Amino acid sequence: MDESAATMAATSIAERLGEVRERIAQAAAGSGRDPSAVCLIAVSKTKSTEQIRAAYDAGQRDFGENYVQELTSKAAELGGLPGLRWHLIGHVQTNKARRVVEVAHMVHSVDSERVAIELGKRAAAAGRRLPVLIEVNIGEEGSKTGASRVAVRDLLQVVQAQPGLEAAGLMTVPPYELDARQTAPYFERLARLRDELGGPQQLRELSMGMSHDFEVAIAHGATMVRVGTAIFGSR
Ligand SMILES: *Cc1c(COP(=O)(O)O)cnc(C)c1O
Repeated sequence: MDESAATMAATSIAERLGEVRERIAQAAAGSGRDPSAVCLIAVSKTKSTEQIRAAYDAGQRDFGENYVQELTSKAAELGGLPGLRWHLIGHVQTNKARRVVEVAHMVHSVDSERVAIELGKRAAAAGRRLPVLIEVNIGEEGSKTGASRVAVRDLLQVVQAQPGLEAAGLMTVPPYELDARQTAPYFERLARLRDELGGPQQLRELSMGMSHDFEVAIAHGATMVRVGTAIFGSR
């Protein structure tokens, strides 16, 4: 990319980021919530470090990646940017838990006791308390990832028993083919499950909502929305 093309691309990322922030603020206000109670996570998978940098320069600090390998190489390249926080939102392979603990601010996708125990062990060894979310397969049928609703209670206890982990909340990914209206019941169910598990005092974060349905998720109580395409363009 020549310089003017790079500048143009950076401008459009900044503009789209501004639009997404505006939509978040409106969705929050529309349900009587404070916009600052919703954290925007810019999902940068497959996107270059230049594009991430453009979003950072426009004030974005929280970024989400799906793959540990991609996360660690981007984190190494962008290591000097103050305040940048990486969120791992994809499946954790237990053999990569140590790397995850080194770079991730938060892990959204703890879906098994094995993963919880391994992350807990590595985090404790590194002297940190890693905030994690339990990924719930709220639809049971359509979505392929996440712990089943019945397994969540036991998994939560395992997470809470790890001194290296903080059980910070719940996350879900509805089946991707559903439109915004159809995903609403999934968000409702995740919010209800959080209430059954002790409410926001116990589990403060609800990570739900993507480019096509983050406003619906905010209406149902999302505290974190994971938005890729609407900021960086299609993948
Ligand atoms: C890719 C991805 C996102 C972002 O999806 P968009 O539709 O691009 O906003 C959010 N959450 C997870 C778990 C993802 O894998």
